[in-house]
Amino acid sequence: TKWVYSFGGGLNEGGAEMRNLLGGKGANLAEMASIGLPVPPGFTITTEVCSAFYANGNNYPPELAQEVAAALHRVEEVMGLVFGDANAPLLVSVRSGARVSMPGMMDTVLNLGLNDVTVEGLARSSGDERFAWDSYRRFIQMYGSVVMGVPHHRFEDLLEQAKRGLGVHDDTAVKAADWREIVEGYKEIVQRETGKPFPADPQAQLWGAIGAVFGSWMNPRANTYRKLHEIPASWGTAVNVQSMVFGNMGEDCATGVCFTRDPSTGEDMFYGEYLVNAQGEDVVAGIRTPQPMAALRATPDQAPMEKVLPKAYEELLRVRALLEKHYRDMQDIEFTVQSNTLYMLQTRTGKRTAAAALKIAIDMAREGLITQEEAIQRVPPTSLDQLLHPTLDPKAERTQIARGLPASPGAAAGAIVFTAEEVEDRAALGEDVILVRIETSPEDVHGMHAARGVLTTRGGMTSHAAVVARGMGRVCVAGAGSIHVDYKAQTLTANGVTLKAGDWITLDGGTGAVYVGKVATIPPTLSGDFSTLMGWADDVRRLRVRANAETPDDAETARKFGAEGIGLSRTEHMFFGPDRIGHVRQMIMADDPEARTKAIGALLPFQRDDFASIFRIMRGLPVTIRLLDPPLHEFLPHGEAELAEVATALGQSVESLRARRSALSEANPMLGHRGCRLGITYPEIYAMQVRAIIEAAIAVSRETGEAIVPEIMIPLVGVKTELDVTRKAAEDVVAAVFAEQGTTLDYLIGTMIELPRAAITAGQIAEAADFFSFGTNDLTQTTLGLSRDDAGSFLPYYVDHGLLPKDPFVSIDREGVGALVRMGVEGGRKTKPKLKLGVCGEHGGDPDSIAFFEQIGLDYVSCSPFRVPVARLAAAQAAL
Ligand code: PEP
Ligand code: MG
Repeated sequence: TKWVYSFGGGLNEGGAEMRNLLGGKGANLAEMASIGLPVPPGFTITTEVCSAFYANGNNYPPELAQEVAAALHRVEEVMGLVFGDANAPLLVSVRSGARVSMPGMMDTVLNLGLNDVTVEGLARSSGDERFAWDSYRRFIQMYGSVVMGVPHHRFEDLLEQAKRGLGVHDDTAVKAADWREIVEGYKEIVQRETGKPFPADPQAQLWGAIGAVFGSWMNPRANTYRKLHEIPASWGTAVNVQSMVFGNMGEDCATGVCFTRDPSTGEDMFYGEYLVNAQGEDVVAGIRTPQPMAALRATPDQAPMEKVLPKAYEELLRVRALLEKHYRDMQDIEFTVQSNTLYMLQTRTGKRTAAAALKIAIDMAREGLITQEEAIQRVPPTSLDQLLHPTLDPKAERTQIARGLPASPGAAAGAIVFTAEEVEDRAALGEDVILVRIETSPEDVHGMHAARGVLTTRGGMTSHAAVVARGMGRVCVAGAGSIHVDYKAQTLTANGVTLKAGDWITLDGGTGAVYVGKVATIPPTLSGDFSTLMGWADDVRRLRVRANAETPDDAETARKFGAEGIGLSRTEHMFFGPDRIGHVRQMIMADDPEARTKAIGALLPFQRDDFASIFRIMRGLPVTIRLLDPPLHEFLPHGEAELAEVATALGQSVESLRARRSALSEANPMLGHRGCRLGITYPEIYAMQVRAIIEAAIAVSRETGEAIVPEIMIPLVGVKTELDVTRKAAEDVVAAVFAEQGTTLDYLIGTMIELPRAAITAGQIAEAADFFSFGTNDLTQTTLGLSRDDAGSFLPYYVDHGLLPKDPFVSIDREGVGALVRMGVEGGRKTKPKLKLGVCGEHGGDPDSIAFFEQIGLDYVSCSPFRVPVARLAAAQAAL
């Protein structure tokens, strides 16, 4: 067996694919070196040594000492230095490196090889005595604590005391002679704490550090971590020994951290910082001001690396090209320049903003570094949300007071308002307001529309507030349970802070955070790259993407974002307009069919106009209109004033209406008088809606010359007979309208599959349906017995504690709800192989769920208008 693998300086025995043997760090170093990057030379002692060590009573394989000696010798030759030499000493770092990075293990010892003799050699060769003694004391401190177990603070205390004695504050003000004394003090600490002298022999230091790495593999912290993350102890860790290079040995030295492209804009240019004559930690420590890399990025008073260290910079440009060609992605790198020679310490794929991800993917595809398909895969679909909505200015100060669910993305600030009416009044005056409610209902929709954002303290990701806000592209934080809302006092209290109506708050709908006051936001910018990527995605996806939309605004937005139709138009929101709700209340409070028919008749022209404008905007694209769904309960008049109004209109006494109201009230409206149950018991409602749909379709067809094929959808069907009855009634109305108008058109009648029984009996239901649309919101609610509106109080706990992998209202529960959807697909297609199948629950806009819908062969997904681009991209990724 070979126990030691060299890297750097022209000999590379490992590579990225040898992660199991060399650990993550060792494999990366070898990979970097083998593609021609200037990596300080070193070697990796394999993970197999670790296993052999433990298997063999804590003894190393007999050949190890010799292999380490040979590899070390090679490093000496490459660097032109000698380990332990009095004049030109080689110093090394020793680091652990398991297959996966693992906290709890010994991390790093730097400057190993220093002692009272070699430190003088380092002082001479660097020409910097202070640097040499500072390095020495750092070494004792690190080695003393991580290898020898001396409490770290012992060293810190002594250093503090020494600095106080010297009357200095910063380490930088400590002189060479002072460091000498501190080194003596450090050595005494080691002797006192361990009963042993600090090892002076570099070989003893090296083996001590190697032993400490292997020993730390089995320490309790590492064991606990492994257990939690199911990492087998048999994997073992590797040890990396690498030549030290110094960025702090003079003015021709430097250290830096940068990205190969701008991680916030994606611009094809170095982005990052460097410091002359400094060590890695100085860049982050913020004592000196780091300088920019590229001359183009520098202001006149700055000293860019391109100008100050031109030779090393040029080398860095070469490295950048190599890196991107090899890793085929933007890299985040760390480097050091020692005496004008560049060394690469680290490279990894760089984190980036959504805008940068998009630009880099498109640019790299155009440069030929990656394919178009890879470019599609490179952009996380949900990150597009960031591009379509304003976001918080990352530089802005903020004070968070609560966190709820990130229900609808974007950032918004405004004055707190507690009622939808007041929101409308204030918004009309041009004020920015945030609607704050315990929860919202369809009545609040107009207020939600006028508000900048919506905050609720109850409800989950498919609560009314969440669904409606997403649909409108309004910012929403839902279910912020730690906020207490007092409608009467007009206050909200959270985290010890009480705010009054009119005070400002800011919502971040992307994270669910709530802040006091006004936090600055930045507007979205849509680049040409966005439509390029969308075009590429459209070329490869199979799933069609529609939008859930019910107002002309929503329909416009949906089209703008590339929706290929409307998959769900919820008609109930149309019933709450101020000009309509009165008629709706009369309709449900009427106790005889005549009064009901009269009230409904008043609604017909409104509905017809609603549908006509949607058909006009969608220009012949498919439009699915769902007949009335919500519980009657939600339309009941609440206050005395409302009750009196309805009484007058109906010519009835307030008394009798009060009685009817309590008769209609439901304990559990979501499982009550709603959906097709409503259409079956109050057939006039669906008849009016079907008439409005067909009349509107005929009118717009005549007007535009385009064939309109309306899709009428029946909600909450659980048994086939429900669909039979509603379908027959609808067909009768359609026939009547055709006769009146002297014309016909094609139309479809289909159903939502949103109850478990419907999914299970889908084969029967399909006989009466032209299409299915899976309502995965209700299907999740009814399958898990989990209320959409009340889940906020405990569901986050379930997710945080791993009882459920994800919020099932956000990402489809594949094993439960998903299995029912699959069953519905199979049952439906068995009866009608060509049956059109879609999904219109919120899952239609969730990338993970979309991957599942692709798998089970749905024809389309339908989601909020602002989610349409997300869905297009996710559908493309699912198809690849
Ligand atoms: C559903 O239940 O998934 C659905 C789309 O309908 P709604 O959200 O309106 O109940
Ligand atoms: Mg539903």
